Amino acid sequence: MSLFAEVWEAVKAVATGLETVHKRVKQPPATEFYPYKKPEIPPVSVQFLALIQEEDGSDRCVACLQCERVCPSQVIAIERKRNPEGKGFVLERFDLDFANCMHCANCVEACPVSAIVTVGEFEHAVYDINLLKADKAFLDHIGHEAKIWYSPKFGVEMRTPEGKIVKAPPEMQPGGLAELLKEAEGGEEA
Ligand code: SF4
Ligand code: SF4
Repeated sequence: MSLFAEVWEAVKAVATGLETVHKRVKQPPATEFYPYKKPEIPPVSVQFLALIQEEDGSDRCVACLQCERVCPSQVIAIERKRNPEGKGFVLERFDLDFANCMHCANCVEACPVSAIVTVGEFEHAVYDINLLKADKAFLDHIGHEAKIWYSPKFGVEMRTPEGKIVKAPPEMQPGGLAELLKEAEGGEEA
């Protein structure tokens, strides 16, 4: 390649770079000013796990051990006893070691009663790794604090300001927005 051709290629490369920078500068920033501005997390995303208690404070968990059995990291430890008042079991201990949890959500998918769920809360970084060992009280607390959560059985659920548990509207359900848009498009064509 002649010297002239080399200089021409270099000029073209610089011009392409400057054009890219110029275009990017005009776009709004893709980053957010975290932690002052919190990102909006999709309702169905595995950020953290929680145990859900019903509105009357009773456990949804029926201590069936399914989550403990399917957990590939074996970080769930449950102890249960026979229900002295009737059928089934009651929980005595429910521990989850978040330090070794891979957030695969197998436990959430396996739970037959949507007691263990994914929540959008993600700010649980700690300096002491031992603080990532959660017990039932902690998991219940996360469940009570959660305004929105997801499980395959019940979909996205929400807690109203009055403390009632309700199903989230269709547009917040997995694929719900796409369905609504499809319906709207169908309506316009008709
Ligand atoms: S998310 Fe996966 S690794 Fe974590 S507790 Fe559930 S099953 Fe185990
Ligand atoms: S959280 Fe669900 S899967 Fe795990 S023991 Fe309780 S009811 Fe069974």
